[in-house]
Amino acid sequence: MNFELSVPEKIIFGKSSLARLGQLVSGFGSRVLIVHGANPDRARSVEGLLEKSTTALYSVRNEPTIEDIAKGVEEAKAREVTLVIGIGGGSVIDAAKAISGLATNPGDMLDYLEVIGRGNPLTKAGLPCVAIPTTAGTGAEVTKNAVIASLDHQVKVSLRSPFLLPRIALVDPELTYSLPTKVTIATGLDALTQLIEPLVSSRANPATDGLCREGIRRVARSLPAVVQDGKDFTAREEMALGSLFGGLALANAGLGAVHGFAGPMGGMFNAPHGLICGILLPFVVDANIHALRLRAPDSTALAGYDEIGRLVTGSPDAAATDGLGWLTDVSKTLNVPTLSSLGIPKESIPGIASKAAKASSMKANPIELTPHELEAILEAAW
Ligand SMILES: [Zn+2]
Repeated sequence: MNFELSVPEKIIFGKSSLARLGQLVSGFGSRVLIVHGANPDRARSVEGLLEKSTTALYSVRNEPTIEDIAKGVEEAKAREVTLVIGIGGGSVIDAAKAISGLATNPGDMLDYLEVIGRGNPLTKAGLPCVAIPTTAGTGAEVTKNAVIASLDHQVKVSLRSPFLLPRIALVDPELTYSLPTKVTIATGLDALTQLIEPLVSSRANPATDGLCREGIRRVARSLPAVVQDGKDFTAREEMALGSLFGGLALANAGLGAVHGFAGPMGGMFNAPHGLICGILLPFVVDANIHALRLRAPDSTALAGYDEIGRLVTGSPDAAATDGLGWLTDVSKTLNVPTLSSLGIPKESIPGIASKAAKASSMKANPIELTPHELEAILEAAW
């Protein structure tokens, strides 16, 4: 048994924990760049918590582009920033991580980007970064990669480095209380997927398994509850915890075919990541169970799927097929759409399948799926 666990220096979880921010960052210097999304209100309240610091706001409206990050890095350098805080959804946190990492490393961003650049490793620690999620789903506050869109190349690529791991992940469930239902559903489905895929991943380890078990149990009961009543604050808290545990699990055990598909599809179509994951999840689980029974009946992943069945249904006698039934029912309850209703053309299926086969997440899938199986999943979800 060999494994590594990379986590932020400090993880702070709890209702109203944002109020502790000033004290938490007191050792990180007094020049702060606060990265936020379209609405600056949350960033302004962060400014209010950092009265002794000189602060500047930087807005990233959608998934960050190369240009967004380059401008943010310029801003950080020009202001001689000592700390980067990201407060927002996964895209904002990824932007904050990328800006903090690139602000201290010399040269051009393309030196460090995968696929479209040279993919060199970052050699210097970034500026200290504090990640504060306002959605419950991506787990970006505890992962060491940042997804960046290249408009020129029409793809999304990753900047990956242990130096991108935030110093502090501050998860305050209160920040998710006002999330609109649509965002609650899409990000919640991402959280569920990011707990299920690492549990059966080929790189799973006992530590991430523990996080996944605890997270799946909570998200299974709280996702339907919070969609029904956004003011169910206990369910909001459980979703925030599930999202955090999913992030820790995926960062250390990898994902699987759902994210293998979602990566390239996110670059090709303008659809929310979590929704793509939610649409595909039951079909991938079905295909994986089928392929494992056929070609790897002794795989521990089959026991993993049985366990998922018990965790989501709460029944000690449940098995893999019961878990699959639960996932299908939840998709119906939450009105999860189809790929066709997202405007994804059927002709694109072979192209998506061949790109997905090469995606890094696909390598952690519990069994290698054939090109035919990959296309069949997309057709079933279309
Ligand atoms: Zn995801």
